[in-house]
Amino acid sequence: CGITGFTGKEEALPFLMQGLEKLEYRGYDSAGVTLVDKNGLYTIKTKGRLKDLENLLTNQEHSQTTGIGHTRWATHGVPSNLNSHPHTNADNTISIVHNGIIENYQAIKEELQRQGYPFVSQTDSEVIVHLIDYYNQGDLVQALQKAVRYLEGSFALCVVSTQCPDQIIVAKKESPMILGKSDQGTFCASDIPAVLAYTKDILSLEDGQIAILKPEDIQVLDFQGEVQAQNWSHVPYD
Ligand code: GLU
Repeated sequence: CGITGFTGKEEALPFLMQGLEKLEYRGYDSAGVTLVDKNGLYTIKTKGRLKDLENLLTNQEHSQTTGIGHTRWATHGVPSNLNSHPHTNADNTISIVHNGIIENYQAIKEELQRQGYPFVSQTDSEVIVHLIDYYNQGDLVQALQKAVRYLEGSFALCVVSTQCPDQIIVAKKESPMILGKSDQGTFCASDIPAVLAYTKDILSLEDGQIAILKPEDIQVLDFQGEVQAQNWSHVPYD
């Protein structure tokens, strides 16, 4: 029920974790992160509290400067380690987090299973990563554009991949997502409190928009790929 993402000059994990803590008020039953660099994707997730996730992350180096985080409030599939987000594709080159509900996931899942896609969770969300994989011909933004046109329901989602390891691609429809930027990098989150300790320069993503976050800039498109105007505001509070 909460999403955080960062790409920039600093380690991503500290922001991801503090942001998820700031989103705890939204409620959750599981938590997870994917960190990405040129060596690949590193995903760790668990049923339970953020503390349980933290315990799995201690005593390891996490120098990656790009990553996405998630707290889940289960709607489809019980709270479990496997049903926790992020969800990855079969060869572990794409990872996604999702807030919302994919109403037509069953039909998409059956079709993808016919095509040989292996599903490991009971969630509605897992169809998203396999659908992106299905459409991926080297341009992840185009793959996401094609995928979101098939998704019915609500989504705020983030995608990272080994193809562009310093980018986060975000899409929004009927579930909240804000973006932020600072000298250190670019941010996304479900709500403003998650980023306030890092930046007060905020943009609320609108329904039907896709954002491409890079360490030094953000591009906003619509689902057809048209470049969108960006109305940034500076929030005056802490
Ligand atoms: N519907 C998704 C699931 O059950 C996402 C829930 C959420 O927004 O946290 O996994």
